[in-house]
Amino acid sequence: MNDIIIPILDLTTQYQSIQTEIQEAMNRVLESGRFILGEEVAQFEQAVANYLGVKHAIGVNSGTDALIISLRSLGIGKGDEVITTPFSFFATAEAVSQVGAIPIFVDVEADTFNINPRKIIQKITPQTQAILPVHLYGNPAAIAQIVEIAKTYNLKIVEDCAQSFGAKYEADCVTCQQECSETMRLSQQGKFTGSIGDMGAFSFFPTKNLGAYGDGGLIATDDDQLAESARMLRVHGERKKYHNEMFGYNSRLDALQAAILRVKLKYIDQWNEQRRRVAQEYNERLSAVENLITPTLKKGHVFHQYTVRILGGKRDQLRDRLRDAGIATMIYYPVSQDQLPVYEGRYEKLPVSERLTQEVLSLPIWPELTTANIDTITEVIKTDLA
Ligand SMILES: *Cc1c(COP(=O)(O)O)cnc(C)c1O
Repeated sequence: MNDIIIPILDLTTQYQSIQTEIQEAMNRVLESGRFILGEEVAQFEQAVANYLGVKHAIGVNSGTDALIISLRSLGIGKGDEVITTPFSFFATAEAVSQVGAIPIFVDVEADTFNINPRKIIQKITPQTQAILPVHLYGNPAAIAQIVEIAKTYNLKIVEDCAQSFGAKYEADCVTCQQECSETMRLSQQGKFTGSIGDMGAFSFFPTKNLGAYGDGGLIATDDDQLAESARMLRVHGERKKYHNEMFGYNSRLDALQAAILRVKLKYIDQWNEQRRRVAQEYNERLSAVENLITPTLKKGHVFHQYTVRILGGKRDQLRDRLRDAGIATMIYYPVSQDQLPVYEGRYEKLPVSERLTQEVLSLPIWPELTTANIDTITEVIKTDLA
């Protein structure tokens, strides 16, 4: 096997471009002697709240904890049902199970990879408390329609924004255009993912669009009470030290990560724009290739991943061919969450999600990926699928 020449993601170029600022920020923290929460985290939280246009941003330990603490803040627990997507990273369903609730999987749309809102209503029962959509690969889900359903059935919404920092809902969402009222669609137009539902859960895992240099996460909400619960839950359920009112977690964002993220937040729009440029260059070269479906370019999509569908059972062979040419690819995700060993035998298969696990292929993407690299990658693909 050849060495990898083009990785799936390269974080080093970006670091070099902001090295001085990052080192200054880290030194500031090291010299302050304050490493957990504190002023640095508060400043970062305020900056994210301003960016997203929400009242509260609460820094936590990871995206997984952001989901768990959001669900707990909403009072979701034993016996409750939470409707979510099977086509995601395990943390989404895991968070639901961790709080004692039951994930109810609703199949996805093949063209957006996101939860299919048309199929949500038939899964609502008296136990349903919330809908947990994921904006997969940085592509906003059909959120206007989800908001409409949630309002009708009195359900909460927690958005999994681990892959969608800076993504915006656009009213040109095809599914919403067909299914949801014009008024609702336009009222959500231009809003950031994570600022629409009751709570938005973000991850700053290093590979995410806004990535720290360690673990980190954040919860966004407009609701004062939910924000207070989340702030308590991240520090052992206390409002006042040694006055614990509920069973919480040790889930705090550390000051070094917050300082790093404050630097990176200034560049996120530029980086997301560069990701869209990469996606567009891929699409231009791949749109006419047989047995390959390119993702739709949308203004609000931040392309955390650039994922194509390979038809005709040719995906794995293409993946091998690319690897032989020194090009790394990934399969997000090879197993539908409902079919994971932890849930074995509990769920019926979901045909679209199941099919996508066999078709998807994520190609290298990062803001600084060069056109020359894109040419190399797409030539190998075109030759293999010709
Ligand atoms: C990464 C990710 C998470 C979990 O975030 P961590 O910070 O790794 O805990 C949750 N959901 C999705 C969709 C993710 O991609």
